[in-house]
Amino acid sequence: MATLTPSTRPDGLESELRKSLGEGSVIDDPEVLAARADDWSGWPSGTPRLLVTPSDTGGVARCLSICNAHRVAVVVQGGRTGLAGGAAARTGEVMLALDKLAGVEDIDTIGGTMTVRAGTTLEAAQAAARGRGMELEIDLGARGSCQIGGVIATNAGGIRVIGTGMTRAHVLGLEVVLADGTVLDDMNTMIKNNSGFDLKQLFIGSEGTLGVVTRAVLRLSPERPGVVTALAALATTGDATTALATARSALGSSLSAFEAMWSDYVTFMSERGGYSRPFDAVPPLSVIIEARGRDESVERSKLEALLADGLEAGWLTDATIAASTDQARRIWAMRDEGPAEYGRLFQAIVPFDVSIPIRSMIGTADRIVGDIRAGWPEAVPLTYGHIGDANLHLVVGFTAPIPDDAKLAISTLVYEAVGAVGGAVSAEHGIGQLKKPWLPLSRTPAAIELMRCMKSTFDPANILNPGRVI
Ligand SMILES: Cc1cc2nc3c(=O)[nH]c(=O)nc-3n(C[C@H](O)[C@H](O)[C@H](O)COP(=O)(O)OP(=O)(O)OC[C@H]3O[C@@H](n4cnc5c(N)ncnc54)[C@H](O)[C@@H]3O)c2cc1C
Repeated sequence: MATLTPSTRPDGLESELRKSLGEGSVIDDPEVLAARADDWSGWPSGTPRLLVTPSDTGGVARCLSICNAHRVAVVVQGGRTGLAGGAAARTGEVMLALDKLAGVEDIDTIGGTMTVRAGTTLEAAQAAARGRGMELEIDLGARGSCQIGGVIATNAGGIRVIGTGMTRAHVLGLEVVLADGTVLDDMNTMIKNNSGFDLKQLFIGSEGTLGVVTRAVLRLSPERPGVVTALAALATTGDATTALATARSALGSSLSAFEAMWSDYVTFMSERGGYSRPFDAVPPLSVIIEARGRDESVERSKLEALLADGLEAGWLTDATIAASTDQARRIWAMRDEGPAEYGRLFQAIVPFDVSIPIRSMIGTADRIVGDIRAGWPEAVPLTYGHIGDANLHLVVGFTAPIPDDAKLAISTLVYEAVGAVGGAVSAEHGIGQLKKPWLPLSRTPAAIELMRCMKSTFDPANILNPGRVI
């Protein structure tokens, strides 16, 4: 694939964009550009050329068509909460931001669908659904900032995947603008539609490399207001699999979250982050178990029975069930707020979001953490994750800057251990720029070659998010 230089025909680009999109939608103020160049991953950004903020699909199409004609690279930006450096701008790129393309267009309570623009925050879309007695079953800690377009582009997971699946499971239709400005209208609203290839699937999870999502049709379900949250202290980390299997069979389709926090994470969040310690002694593994259904009292009694069984069987040593929404929020805060604390408390982090087959999960995680402690005694490994989905988050924090070769050595250690047990180098955050070198540990050469072929078919000039994923 051709490597794109910052611009082969720089002259006239800016004036064409201004003429086509309007002065207010094309920004060249260096301070604004610098403030928007990075994303949450902390991946080093370059010096972008311009910021373009179209307010409709036509504007996105005109922007891409002009950039494509000028062979100028474009980085697509949603809420910039991505953790793989996909939205971090490189030098010379035009930043295409979807912020103005926001709002819910329609909610169909009979068909169970929402038509929404890509720049809408996840939280706004959730609230709009709830306002009509419906539920959008996608949820993640970054809900207040991440946008529907970014969530779809990364096929985001989050805290409800165990019950309702990844973002892909909630997308019925998409409108996408291709690199040359062609608008692909695939705004299907039906659950069943086998009329030819299901093209939308190519864009979900392709991290903005194949097209820009501008609108979507999402599935909604009737609201399930009966939510009960428990925090369980497991006797050993190895009891996680018993606890998960028991929770699955006791709660069935009500099981909406099963989130684990190792003792290193809970100790860090309580001692350094100031979060109140849930139990007197920090258990080897703390698990948030959430049951969700129509009737809270039904869910509560199912959860109480599960915890009573666990105490009797011995895999559980202690547990608390939130008595109010406020208490539930406090339980979740410890799990959700970790990423916000790292920037405040560490000088350097090496973060991981890996999948490990559940049978090997605990042993592999404990082994990796042991090896990190042995190799880097000053490191603070923090282990937690959506273990009900076999998804482990590991953050290796340092209170002083560390050299790049140490980051590389830690990454090699973790990714090789994950690859050796048939895991995936990215469970949900994507590959972006951060994990590109490690993709071959999870995908075969034939699969990577097919991805390259798709990229050059959809974007022959390689202007869309170049240098990301492949
Ligand atoms: C506190 C916190 C918690 C998080 N929790 C989770 C979690 O539980 N599960 C999870 O999966 N992720 C999680 N994330 C990561 C992140 O929030 C998600 O990946 C989110 O989906 C990114 O959305 P965004 O709008 O911020 O996208 P951005 O960061 O702006 O972009 C992400 C990628 O998508 C592309 N993109 C953005 N918008 C579009 C579009 N309209 N069309 C095409 N491509 C586009 C970008 O170019 C980039 O490659 C978390 C992040 C934070 C900061």
